[in-house]
Amino acid sequence: MELWFTDKHTENVHFSIKIKEHLYHGKSKYQSIDFFDSYEFGKFLTLDGYMMVNEKDEFIYHDMMVHVPMATNPLIKKVLVIGGGDGGTVRELTRYSSVEVIDMVEIDEQVVKLSQQYLPQTASKLIDPRVKIYYDDGLSFVSGLDNTYDLILVDSTDSMGPGEGLFSKAFYDNCYQALTEDGILVNQHESPYYDKEAKEMKRSHAKIKKLFPISMVYQFHMPTYPSGHWLFGFASKKYHPIDNAGFDAWKEFGLKTKYYNTNIHKGSFLLPTFVQDMLDEV
Ligand code: SAM
Repeated sequence: MELWFTDKHTENVHFSIKIKEHLYHGKSKYQSIDFFDSYEFGKFLTLDGYMMVNEKDEFIYHDMMVHVPMATNPLIKKVLVIGGGDGGTVRELTRYSSVEVIDMVEIDEQVVKLSQQYLPQTASKLIDPRVKIYYDDGLSFVSGLDNTYDLILVDSTDSMGPGEGLFSKAFYDNCYQALTEDGILVNQHESPYYDKEAKEMKRSHAKIKKLFPISMVYQFHMPTYPSGHWLFGFASKKYHPIDNAGFDAWKEFGLKTKYYNTNIHKGSFLLPTFVQDMLDEV
C-alpha cells in the first residue's frame, strides 16, 4: 500500500508527497503537529496539515530570511526571531560569530522539542549559548519593547490560527518600536500567485509601508509552498537592501551558502510586473 501526504494549496490544487513513514502525530494546545519521512523531500514537519519545513528545500527559505538582512547590514548584533520553532532560521544566524544575541519567541514549545527529536538538520543549533528561547506569543512579547533589536525576523505560520496576530498593524507597530534606529524587519510575506495568499500579502504590505521609510518585497523559489513562488517583506528604518548593502563586509564572513549569493540578493528585489502592480495598488 502507498502512503501519500496531501497539502491543499487551494480548493482546486493539491500537492502530494509519497511517504516512507509517518513518524509522529500529536495535538498541542495550538495546532496539530506531524512529522513524516518521504522519498523526495526527506523528513518534514506539518502544522494543521500544511507543510512547514522539509530537509530538501529548507535551505532556500532560511538562506533568504537570514542572509539578505545580514548582508544589508553586516554589523547586526542583536536579533529577535518570532516563530521559527523548527530552528532553521536560528541555525543560519549562529553562523555569524559577530551576532551576540539571538532571542527566539515561539508560541508552541512542542514544535521546538519535537523538531529537536525529528529534524536535527534544522534544530541542532538551538542549543548555541547565544540562543535564548521564550515560549510566548510573539505579539505580546514585542509589545512594550523599545530600541532593543537590530533585526527582527518573523518566521511565522500563515495568517490563521496562532499566526494571525503576527500580520496585524499592532504587531508591526510594536516591531517598529522594538527596533534600533537602523533596525530591519524581515517577515514571511506569503505568495502573490493564488488569491488567498495574494490577499494576505497585500494586506501585510499596506500596513508595513505606512510605518517604515523603506518597505520592499523580495522573492525566491520554494518548491513545496503553494505555487512555488514565495515572498519576504523587507522593512528598514535606514538601510536600503541594495544601495546600502555591505556586500564586501558580508563576503569577509566567508560563509558557504547553497542558495544565497550577492547576485541573488540584488535580483530577488526585481519583481515580475503582476507582483509590482499588486504592491503599487495598496
Ligand atoms: N517556514 C515556515 C512556513 O512559512 O511555513 C514557518 C515555520 S515555523 C515552524 C512557524 C512557527 O511559528 C510555528 O512553529 C508556530 O508555532 C509559530 N507561531 C505561530 N504563531 C505564533 C505566534 N503568535 N507567536 C510565536 N510563534 C508563533
